[in-house]
Amino acid sequence: MKNIFITTPIYYVNDVPHIGHSYTTIIADVLSRYQRLLGNNVFFLTGTDEHGQKIEKSAEQRGLQPRELVDSVVLRYKELWEKLNISYDYFVRTTDEQHKRIVQEVFQKIYEKGYIYLGNYEGLYCSPCESYFTATQAVEGKCPDCGRDLVLLQEEAFFFKLSAFQDKLLAYIKQNEQFVLPHTRKNEVVSFIEQGLEDLCISRSSISWGIEVPELGIELKNKHYIYVWFDALLNYITAIQYMENEKVFQQHWPAYVQLIGKDILKFHCIIWPAMLMALDLELPEHVFGHGFIYQGGEKMSKSKGNVLDPNKIIEEYSVDAFRYYITREIVFGLDGTYSDVNMRQRYNSDLANDFGNLLNRTLSMMGRYFEFKVGKSNEAQLSEAELILKKEVHDLEIRIRQNMQDFKLSIVLEDIFSVIRKANKYIEDNMPWKLYKEEQIDKLSNIMIQLLETIKVVTTWLSPFMPQTAQKVYEQLNISWQEKNLYNWGYFKEGMLLNKPEPLFPRKE
Ligand SMILES: [Zn+2]
Repeated sequence: MKNIFITTPIYYVNDVPHIGHSYTTIIADVLSRYQRLLGNNVFFLTGTDEHGQKIEKSAEQRGLQPRELVDSVVLRYKELWEKLNISYDYFVRTTDEQHKRIVQEVFQKIYEKGYIYLGNYEGLYCSPCESYFTATQAVEGKCPDCGRDLVLLQEEAFFFKLSAFQDKLLAYIKQNEQFVLPHTRKNEVVSFIEQGLEDLCISRSSISWGIEVPELGIELKNKHYIYVWFDALLNYITAIQYMENEKVFQQHWPAYVQLIGKDILKFHCIIWPAMLMALDLELPEHVFGHGFIYQGGEKMSKSKGNVLDPNKIIEEYSVDAFRYYITREIVFGLDGTYSDVNMRQRYNSDLANDFGNLLNRTLSMMGRYFEFKVGKSNEAQLSEAELILKKEVHDLEIRIRQNMQDFKLSIVLEDIFSVIRKANKYIEDNMPWKLYKEEQIDKLSNIMIQLLETIKVVTTWLSPFMPQTAQKVYEQLNISWQEKNLYNWGYFKEGMLLNKPEPLFPRKE
């Protein structure tokens, strides 16, 4: 049994949850459920990023205290995760006392190690982005990220000595091929580091909605608050009680995979690893930067008004259909598109026709021919052609294990559905109805058992992607969810009773 720590980014509560947040979180959930299926000890962390000037301002605009605003948005996230069946183990909030306390302890520790120092910062500042830019980074005097006006600001500030980690970081990324994934993103990170890393300003005195810089025993002109990104990144170790509970921390760290969107690559593949190096901590095994989901060829954004509400898709097609679409249709790592036409097609062809139908016709035949009672099994009587499904199912496991390790989720689903289609063809080829007429009951029973085993195994491999559906299939097959190793062949024994079929995915016209 391995300890597996999986994280999503913590989401900024200036925005309500949309399809992009759902995407990352569903993937993290699939990976977590898969690892649990293998018997590993998973700790799945998600949460919210709640500090910073943007929050302070938008609370003010709404006549709220920042705390009231963040509490209400956090609720929206938690509700959506419940709806999407997200099985997180811990929900971290950057306003949690534990988080704030540990962030201050870490700040002090890095300061004492000499990687944080007090200096003077002058730069072009974008207030909505809460970022400073150099003159070369600015695009015609405007913010390179959002295009808004930049203002020249100067302040006493703390700096993180990012430049000290440039060579070490570069060497690490080059030596550890699997650290930044997919590999195209690795190249992006490498070329960015090669341009040279500058020290990073990590405190603000212009804001007050944040974590105060701890008492360091030095004279300061102003009260300083910790830069929101520095605060936020630390959630990955404050949540597992770094510096406070060594046993818990050692059990989980380093993370197995940290999932992020490609827009926050620099933070997670440069700043975050450098912070870990400053603390003498190991780096996560993988940081995976996934692509964006577009609609009609455009990136979704609030200003374009084309943001997809996951709630609507769930209402129309079911939670599992949405989870399936997002993991099957979008190649993990690349950009993808949401389209209702594709969604409908996947739903009707893959889920209703292929999978739903396989279960339905198999159980119907079991009812008709065996009154839902599993018959005798004698594989020795089956010919090579009749055993073909068992071999397919066996080979499937080998491919799934490899592809899940490589985070090729859409290929895993493609493989599973290919076996489902083969099982449907197996029915056509073996014509159980003919065997029944000819009263070849032993052979018929054998073939039905091959089908039942296949359905049980593919359902189990599908369960990380579609947990609710797996539950329904198990119920119809009269199998307890608690049973172990359901991905192994050889569950059904003579005399076991099955339940009546119920449609899993009613067709949408
Ligand atoms: Zn900006």
